[in-house]
Amino acid sequence: MEKLRLRGITDEQVLEAVGQLPRHYFLDKAFEEHAYLDKPFPIGNKQTISQPFTVAYQTAMLKVEKRQRILEIGTGSGYQAAILSLLGARVFTIERQEALYQKTAPLLEQLGFSNIRAYFGDGYKGLPEMAPFDGILFTAGAEDIPQAVFDQLKVGGRLVVPLGKGQQTMYCITKTKEGKAEVIEEGDLFSFVPFLKGVKESKTF
Ligand code: SAH
Repeated sequence: MEKLRLRGITDEQVLEAVGQLPRHYFLDKAFEEHAYLDKPFPIGNKQTISQPFTVAYQTAMLKVEKRQRILEIGTGSGYQAAILSLLGARVFTIERQEALYQKTAPLLEQLGFSNIRAYFGDGYKGLPEMAPFDGILFTAGAEDIPQAVFDQLKVGGRLVVPLGKGQQTMYCITKTKEGKAEVIEEGDLFSFVPFLKGVKESKTF
C-alpha cells in the first residue's frame, strides 16, 4: 500500500480496502503468482483486470459513502466491484461479455459479496430499472458519456469516466440541479480497454 500512497492515493479507506482484498481471487490461475505486482493482467476474452493503482484512483475520485447506490460499467474480473462493496456501497455492475459475466457473477457470490448485483447487458444503456445512482463508474475508456447513463445519475452524484480515444483522461462529472453535466475534477491519463456498444453473447465464440 506504500506504493499506492507514494503515487498519490491519500484516501485511507480506499487504501485499506485495496490492502484487505486478495487480488489473486480475481485472476486466472495462471496469473496468480503475479497478482501483487502493480500491473494489469489478462482475465480472458481479451480483457484485463485494472492495476491496483487505477482501481484505487477511480475509487478515490468517486468518494463512495456507505449504503450509496453505485453503478459500475465493465464488471470484468469483479475486483473493482469488490473494492466498492468493501467500502459499504450497494454495487450494481454490468458487463457486455456474457462469458465474463458468467465467470464473475458466481465468483462474487462465492466470495460472499452480498451487496453486489451483477448483470449481463450493455453499459451504453446503463441499468434504468435500478436507477437512480449516487455514483457511476466507467472502467472502460469511453469517447463520450451516453445520455441514458447520465440520466441515471442523481443530482449532485459523481460520475467517474476515462474519456478519450487511445489514451483517456480521467474525469469526475456531477449533475447540477438543472440536470446539466459539470466537470468537477480532471485527473491523469490512463489506457483503458475500449467501451464498446452492444453485448457479446458467449455462444458466438
Ligand atoms: N472493472 C474491471 C475492469 C475490466 S476491463 C475489473 O475490476 O476487473 C473493462 C470491462 O468493460 C471489460 O470487461 C469489457 O468487456 C467491459 N465493457 C466494455 N464496454 C462495455 C459496455 N458497453 N457495457 C458493459 N461492459 C463493457
